[in-house]
Amino acid sequence: MLQLRKPEIVPINDHVWLLDDNHEAACYVVAGRERAMVIDTSIGLCSIREAAEFLTGLPLICVNTHGHGDHMGGNWAFEKAYMNLADLPLAEESMNIPEVQEGIKQFGVSYPPFEHIEDGHVFDLGGLEIEALYLPGHTPGEIVLLDRQDRILFSGDGILEHLWLQLPESLPVETQIESMKRLLPLRDCFDTILHGHCRQPAGIELFDTLLAALEDLAAGNTADDIDYVWYGNVSKAHPYQPNDRRIVYK
Ligand SMILES: [Zn+2]
Repeated sequence: MLQLRKPEIVPINDHVWLLDDNHEAACYVVAGRERAMVIDTSIGLCSIREAAEFLTGLPLICVNTHGHGDHMGGNWAFEKAYMNLADLPLAEESMNIPEVQEGIKQFGVSYPPFEHIEDGHVFDLGGLEIEALYLPGHTPGEIVLLDRQDRILFSGDGILEHLWLQLPESLPVETQIESMKRLLPLRDCFDTILHGHCRQPAGIELFDTLLAALEDLAAGNTADDIDYVWYGNVSKAHPYQPNDRRIVYK
């Protein structure tokens, strides 16, 4: 029998919840009147779907912010998952890890088909619309999801305090800047940022300070940059304030 751990459920308002899976990743449930969206599913060992069904009896739509295994790992609990298919190779890499293959065989589950999300696609949850916007940088297929009614931007690993651009699949710092500048006309449409590793909501200042720090980095102001160790690799990190934030880059 598959024993799944339970996420910690943090209400954001009366129809948006943060599901914290053991601080591995943050997932979200957003309920409209007719459907609810599950944004990311963590690494696959947590009962994200059950929690979503407990919170809302509505039909569920599963959407991935990007193809990393700590965000789409729990997709096996759904019949279909939406993703920008530019990240399909990353998702396939995660699904083909021998331990994952063994697990899904052992428990008789399987990963669902992925449905591509176009830039600007609007998910209608019934009285609540969520707009998907491409934000290539952390991965080629990263998307953010804008909920104008609640003034929330769900930003995955695309906009967060510690931004990882050092991964082999990550795009140049300049691309991340272009991606964020494309969102500038929408900057007045949100004041809360809920990202893929957050424990509490961030404010719009995260967007502004991150973009300023990226521009500082692109301008070559790297004198204060530090070594950053991740999974046995060493990359450079560009610190920015407040609170010792980092942009890790190649
Ligand atoms: Zn990621």
